[in-house]
Amino acid sequence: MNKKIVDRRTVLSIASLMAGGMLLDAGAAYARPRSAEPATRLPSPDEAWARMRTGNRRWVSDTAIHPHQDRARRAEAARKQEPYAVVVSCIDSRVAPELVFDTGVGDLLSVRSAAQTIDPLVSGAIEYGPAELDTPLIVVLGHQRCGAVAAAAHALHEGTTLPGNLQDIVEALRPAYRRAHGNVDKMIRINTADVVSKLKSDKLLAKRIARKQLKIVGGYYSLDTGQVTRVV
Ligand SMILES: [Zn+2]
Repeated sequence: MNKKIVDRRTVLSIASLMAGGMLLDAGAAYARPRSAEPATRLPSPDEAWARMRTGNRRWVSDTAIHPHQDRARRAEAARKQEPYAVVVSCIDSRVAPELVFDTGVGDLLSVRSAAQTIDPLVSGAIEYGPAELDTPLIVVLGHQRCGAVAAAAHALHEGTTLPGNLQDIVEALRPAYRRAHGNVDKMIRINTADVVSKLKSDKLLAKRIARKQLKIVGGYYSLDTGQVTRVV
């Protein structure tokens, strides 16, 4: 190997380190034996979203590879975590983020609440990823036939008050109910977009968005097909 080539390779590898977040092609990384996967550096926001979409395509086509779920990955993640996305999704038992995006240990920070509604405590949990771990992507994920949204729509339509703290969920969904004129599926999408815009105006997150260190996207998960489509 001549010196010129070596030098060029050295320069390239330094340049890619400096780019901080330029990641190897996610598909290629997944194609390696799982235990041989190197410690990853964080991808850019767009690369992180591409990785999520690729994982979801595997889930949809029943070709999930369940990456990052072996002992080697556990040991690696035990020392340091570098999750590349925060997923803000519903508590629904059928919409587990690690499954629907075909990810594993140390890949995602999962923040879940009924109908992915947020309040200051939940927002703090969401901020943790970008602010403390440089996580480049937040995905707010609504889903088809969301029971929490349907129950809230019903309560608002009937003018009833739900017991305990359940009424807080109803109140959080009231603006979406109004704009969707009670249509549950529209309400799910509107609420997802609302949560995205609330997070985009979060001071701490807005700074990172302005610096292109963070992207926030809204998605809709179909229970029928397993597919995540972009809402906003
Ligand atoms: Zn739900």
